[in-house]
Amino acid sequence: MEYRISTALISRPMSGLFDYIVDAPVEPLPGARVKVPFGTTQDNIAVLVRTAQPGQTAALERLELKSGELLDDLELIPPDVFALCQYAAEYYHYPLGQCFFTALPSLLREGRAAAFKESPALTLSVKGRAADAELPAELKNAGQRQLFTLLKQHGAPIFKQELRDRGFTSYALAALVKRGLAEEVMQSTADAHTWQEDSRPVLKHAALNLNSEQQEAANAVCAALGTAQNFLLYGITGSGKTEVYLHIIAKVLERGQAALVLVPEIALTPQTVERFYQRFNAPVILMHSALSPSERLNAWLTMKTGKGAVLIGTRSALFTPIPHLGLIVLDEEHDSSFKQGDGLRYHARTLAQQRAALNSCPLVLGSATPSLETLQEVMSGKTVLLQLTRRAGAAQLPEIVLIDQRAEPLTLGVQTGIGITLENEIGIETVKGNQVMLFLNRRGYAHQLICHHCGKVITCPHCDTPLTVHRSDNRLLCHICDSAFPLPRTCPHCGSAELLENGYGTEQVEHYLKLRYPDVIVDRLDRDAVKTKADLDVKLAHMRAGQTRILAGTQMVAKGHDFPGVTLVGILDLDAGLFSDDFRALEFTAQLLTQVAGRAGRAERPGRVLIQTHHPEHPLLQLLIQPQTSYLTVAQQLLALRAQRLLPPVSAQAFLLSNSSVREKAHAFLSELMEGLKPHLPEFPGLNCGPVISDKIEKRRNRYHFHVQVLSRDRNELSAFLTLAQRRADIMGRRTDVRFACDVDPLFMY
Ligand code: ADP
Ligand code: ZN
Ligand code: ZN
Repeated sequence: MEYRISTALISRPMSGLFDYIVDAPVEPLPGARVKVPFGTTQDNIAVLVRTAQPGQTAALERLELKSGELLDDLELIPPDVFALCQYAAEYYHYPLGQCFFTALPSLLREGRAAAFKESPALTLSVKGRAADAELPAELKNAGQRQLFTLLKQHGAPIFKQELRDRGFTSYALAALVKRGLAEEVMQSTADAHTWQEDSRPVLKHAALNLNSEQQEAANAVCAALGTAQNFLLYGITGSGKTEVYLHIIAKVLERGQAALVLVPEIALTPQTVERFYQRFNAPVILMHSALSPSERLNAWLTMKTGKGAVLIGTRSALFTPIPHLGLIVLDEEHDSSFKQGDGLRYHARTLAQQRAALNSCPLVLGSATPSLETLQEVMSGKTVLLQLTRRAGAAQLPEIVLIDQRAEPLTLGVQTGIGITLENEIGIETVKGNQVMLFLNRRGYAHQLICHHCGKVITCPHCDTPLTVHRSDNRLLCHICDSAFPLPRTCPHCGSAELLENGYGTEQVEHYLKLRYPDVIVDRLDRDAVKTKADLDVKLAHMRAGQTRILAGTQMVAKGHDFPGVTLVGILDLDAGLFSDDFRALEFTAQLLTQVAGRAGRAERPGRVLIQTHHPEHPLLQLLIQPQTSYLTVAQQLLALRAQRLLPPVSAQAFLLSNSSVREKAHAFLSELMEGLKPHLPEFPGLNCGPVISDKIEKRRNRYHFHVQVLSRDRNELSAFLTLAQRRADIMGRRTDVRFACDVDPLFMY
């Protein structure tokens, strides 16, 4: 039978729906994919949004409409995820089709079949199964022994990707195969049963007994199962939040419902992952950026077909179809990686709230340093606050000390970020056998290269930003567009050979420490030193084992890792975060400080945090060093400041953005748009529109960027205005080489 359908194109930035005719045996459902002709191309993927009744297709229309080809026999995107995409399209003023694009794994966007792909898995060989002893004597390496035991206990093959995510090295996998104990098989999840059919109990072992606060928190959420209540689980790092999630998830699974756990990319360490695998018999599925396209599709289908019980994933896992979803956890909810920076600029927290509402399930936000957005929701009564105030074990909170940099002698160390006080303290702690962590939010060796002769700074040819010196690979790198250039011998402007390095980064800090403490193992944790997840796992393992004595790095060191041997944390330079023109800077600084400080003194050994600053009198620092100050006190003061200045989260904020490779075009587009909107502004009395100005870094990747800031106390008013702006931008027409977009609830200023 022929059906007339309305579709949203997923791979083109077009708002609006497009109608086609499809031939199908039964009425096709919304959420199915259709291959349709559009413009000059034939193979455009679209998602079916609605179907007209068969009789409604008049003969005349039939002639006008082109035919599409239905790719899925049923809905591919189930109703709840479909509704989530519709919500995202409205909330973020972004084309619906492009929201579907964000929601789908890349292979499905390309029109591939929604079918499981075989992936390599590992299982014990006949020889391995026959090994009488619990462990064959030839296995000496601890990793290989653990792997053997796991495969023996599990019986069935385990995907190699899962084994790697659980911390087994490719080397360990290969070693077992080489010894003939294990073999590689290709496996697919297609024939697996749904997990509810498994008769084993949900828990593998009895769980830990919760302390009273943990129990109270778990009880509160469990009592709300089946409702869309939001919770904030506020507890310092190490206070046992993950343990609370595990308890609630067990209850959810016992109800026959599945759970979704969203984490920042970096938090998916083998230790965290393993706690989930160790706890539940029910299948745990991981989704992160290191998966190949077919592994991602497999994970997506495993959840969609009800074969996975717990999905742990980063931001975009939020869009995964999960039948019987009973709980959403969003851990480290303050983390800025939950906000997508391009395309559909969504915040996972905002959409998780909506998904929880659509699925009538609780949402648990966890953090030691909750965002002001979430605290605002707590104050307004929409989110229930649950607190964990005690640290598991005997760990105490660290003491925070400010070191006035103005009083420090100008040593060689100071020029590489380490003043004499900190240097001495590092010496004392490492001699005692303790570990030290140093934090600096600048990658590279030197911040910039300046010509001593003509004074010019060497900048990126594609961006308005200085190139950073990276010594380890002898290159100049652009931190905006990632372009790399060989280290020049002479100034490109005047030819002088006198080039000066200016400012230090993590690489220089590491370099200095290695010279200063030649007998101590120093390591570095930043985007340059960690290229893959395996790099990260190795570095964290060395740190956890106490091998690495000094770890220097960017905010990567601040995120959720548990290193009991760290007694000293040094913060090399916070001053930029104290005097930024971004109104969120103080919030981020307070969060960062609290998070970094949380790394110190986690076991029996008390910890200290030394903060180097040129501004010890700054009120935020003064507040943070008071022993009785909690993050919550600081956050409440910051929130009061926001309220005074009518800034988010008290008001709603958005940016209108334009960019072009021709500077004038980018500016002209926004100016004309704002000019056209002017007559309508009286309809939006609470709205505050800024001028058209260029971004802080105007030229990025050879394109010039301009923006307009819009604020309103009334989110509906802001949204109505954005709808109007979007419509006018559409009317102004597609101009060659001008891109226009909105960013609703931006996290950073442009
Ligand atoms: P968070 O997620 O807040 O950082 P975790 O749940 O990871 O905290 O707990 C920190 C440590 O304390 C972990 O090693 C965990 O096993 C342990 N722990 C948590 N809760 C308990 C408990 N009730 N009894 C014993 N140990 C606990
Ligand atoms: Zn020069
Ligand atoms: Zn660049």
